[in-house]
Amino acid sequence: MVNKPQINMKKATSGSWAVKYRPQKLFDVIGQEAAVTEITGSINKRSLPSAYLLHGMRGCGKTTIARLIAKTINCKTFDACGTCDNCKLNLNVEGGHPDFLEVDVGDRRGIDDARGLARLSKLGPQLGNLRIIFLDEAHRIGMDAAPAYLKPLEEPPYYMLWILATTDPDKLIGTIKSRCQSVALNPVSKEATLQRLKHIAQQEQLSWVDDKILETIAQASGGYVRDSIQALEKVANYVQGGGVTDRDLINKIAFNSILSADPEVDINNAATKILAGIYLNAPKLICNGAAEVTDFIPLANKLIAFNQYLIDVITTTSSPNIYFSAANKLFRNRLEKALIKRNYSPNIIRGEQSLGILLNVSATLVTLRQDLQFFSMPRSMITAKLGLLAHKGY
Ligand SMILES: [Zn+2]
Repeated sequence: MVNKPQINMKKATSGSWAVKYRPQKLFDVIGQEAAVTEITGSINKRSLPSAYLLHGMRGCGKTTIARLIAKTINCKTFDACGTCDNCKLNLNVEGGHPDFLEVDVGDRRGIDDARGLARLSKLGPQLGNLRIIFLDEAHRIGMDAAPAYLKPLEEPPYYMLWILATTDPDKLIGTIKSRCQSVALNPVSKEATLQRLKHIAQQEQLSWVDDKILETIAQASGGYVRDSIQALEKVANYVQGGGVTDRDLINKIAFNSILSADPEVDINNAATKILAGIYLNAPKLICNGAAEVTDFIPLANKLIAFNQYLIDVITTTSSPNIYFSAANKLFRNRLEKALIKRNYSPNIIRGEQSLGILLNVSATLVTLRQDLQFFSMPRSMITAKLGLLAHKGY
């Protein structure tokens, strides 16, 4: 575990470098050259599909690319020139351009929302070349709402383009998926993130920065470029504001700043406590862990994922091939250490005998995850079910 430096982190203006260094054209987006080449090629040939489906992990640039597609298509020169009337209307602000609508499906997943958008898709553009509707989190389109999208997606008017984005294409309803041209986005490599950070460090004339510090941030960001830029800005405020010169300390600050930028940290922390509580027969730890969170479905998902990791560790000879962000890695290591410290290593982590126990816990977690959707007191459910498991054994 990394110790937090004992200095208060100066609060950075949220996301100001992330805004300042936001890509202005499709080719400015880092780490997605193949996807960008494909999309730009279609725009240049004026041969667009009726709908794009952008899919890839969190932070790989789906929203940025969707907005830049809209900017490029509605630019007078099809180049996101930045100076024409359409480009000047800021696409990143709600209602910035009348022909671009960005919808978070998580907030608007009902049938009425879908019908409203379908009606809107029939209207022609007001200022730009096309009307573009961007459905973010598209896997959250509900079964009842899906039929309303089918015809508009399949046969939109010539002046209409849909862009869908999702982290989870497998959850997207098949009839919707089959109507879209799929564009896979890669996790952004550490090298690409590093190059971006180097560029910003140069522009901002950060004389105290060296490659090691930037590498720490790039590595810890787990492919999430915006987090890495925000982290660099925080470190800069902190180092420059506090006159810090010690390189080891700056490195620690860099690592901590990326973890504090990761919203998963609280959930990971709670999940670590709860799983350790189960395997160490410590119901109190489970109650403590559950007391830390307000959002229980992500917690249940994380519990299942971490437990699956433990299963993978003992059932595969090589190390499991799961993508872990820096925050995930940190908490996974903490969980393993907690278990090993109590001599659980032979039983839980490595031993053949423990597979039954792990599977048993997994089964409880999966049921718990299902039940959580229908029960209004999730904390009680988690502490009761898992606490009893820890108390009575598996
Ligand atoms: Zn323009």
